[in-house]
Amino acid sequence: MNPNTFQYSESFAREMDAKDPLSKFRSRFHFPKVNGREAIYFCGNSLGLQPKSVKDYLEKELNNWADLAVDGHFHGEDAWYHIRKKSKPALAEILGAQEHEVVAMNNLSVNLHLLMVSFYQPTEERYKIIVEAGAFPSDQYMLETQIKFHGLDPLDVLVELAPRPGEFTLRTEDILEEIYRQGESLAMVNMAGIQYYTGQFFDLKAITEAAHAVGALAGFDLAHAAGNAVLKLHDWDVDFATWCSYKYLNSGPGNISGIFVNERYAERPDLPRFGGWWGHDEGERFKMEKGFVPMYGADGWQLANTNVLALAAHQASLDIFQEAGIENLREKSEKLTGYLEFLIRQISGESGVLEIITPKNPQERGCQLSLLIHRGGKAVFDEFYKHGVVGDWRNPNVIRLAPTPLYNSFLDVFRFAKILEQSLEKFA
Ligand SMILES: *Cc1c(COP(=O)(O)O)cnc(C)c1O
Repeated sequence: MNPNTFQYSESFAREMDAKDPLSKFRSRFHFPKVNGREAIYFCGNSLGLQPKSVKDYLEKELNNWADLAVDGHFHGEDAWYHIRKKSKPALAEILGAQEHEVVAMNNLSVNLHLLMVSFYQPTEERYKIIVEAGAFPSDQYMLETQIKFHGLDPLDVLVELAPRPGEFTLRTEDILEEIYRQGESLAMVNMAGIQYYTGQFFDLKAITEAAHAVGALAGFDLAHAAGNAVLKLHDWDVDFATWCSYKYLNSGPGNISGIFVNERYAERPDLPRFGGWWGHDEGERFKMEKGFVPMYGADGWQLANTNVLALAAHQASLDIFQEAGIENLREKSEKLTGYLEFLIRQISGESGVLEIITPKNPQERGCQLSLLIHRGGKAVFDEFYKHGVVGDWRNPNVIRLAPTPLYNSFLDVFRFAKILEQSLEKFA
């Protein structure tokens, strides 16, 4: 949509909502209240809202547990023994994967470690890891401790890519150049899909191609990308990835993560891995015999039996994603975030008080915009909150706003803009 057609008016926002085929999904979510009023919730990048259907999905499993107890593992169509399979079609759509390339399991940081066990095998010559500078702390700690686990020094191994001086985000050409510069010393690229701080969506396809061209692997943390961007992990030939379900995937605080392992590793029992009974051939699992035989595909990375209650909440949200369609969501998302960007520019004008550091090109971002606030700082943010805007603040002066296409409206964006304007007048 051409930004020249956007207008800073309530009637325009209402008209956009009236034309929005996804507007009906808003009423499927619980909105928190701030100071007694329904919040303008722009924090789905941190914790997605609760689908109203979660209660029923959980209740169903609580009833199964009450009524069937241990028989629930094998009883009926949604028997717990196979329950993970139910989530696969939706996960495959969201990640752009084959069903056998994805499985829901564990938490994100745990999965990052498990994937490193299989895919980071440093040698004398090939041991370097490229990561974006300022990666999410958990990812930094994971890399640091994995490298030390191999007896290596993080300072020798990590190649941290920082934006050029005066720029906030990485240029794809610079990422690719660094991959080629490292060449035969590069073991893997291990980056975010969408960077949590800047909101930059990296070119996963180009990065993967370059990594493969020098004989390295490409793995991504999709915490901020899953359910936000259109992903094609299989077609892009990504080696491995993991994500969490509680941000854009709206599955509840700390809920279950998932992994993607490229089909080419589906039958590689020789790959190093930490095994557990749930990754063992499910036909033979209850023979309780010696000798780990990993299941085909991503399932072979499972360790422990499925967290059924966690998966039930996750499934409630996955069903909504399937109904809405990730491509449709993305189409709306570009407009919604474009509208937010347009209004911020209108309000900030030439004053220089706000600076958007997220890339302008919609192809290089998801729904989140990160703003530097040059005057007024946290007081402006606190003023928003008082008026019901839930966003998030990162020291020293970044505000992150994530209007999500599933439950946010153009009217939310308009209302936010009015509050922003007033907050800036007061404090900036
Ligand atoms: C949210 C997030 C995490 C959180 O990890 P958990 O294991 O789910 O606590 C890790 N990495 C990134 C990039 C994130 O955005």
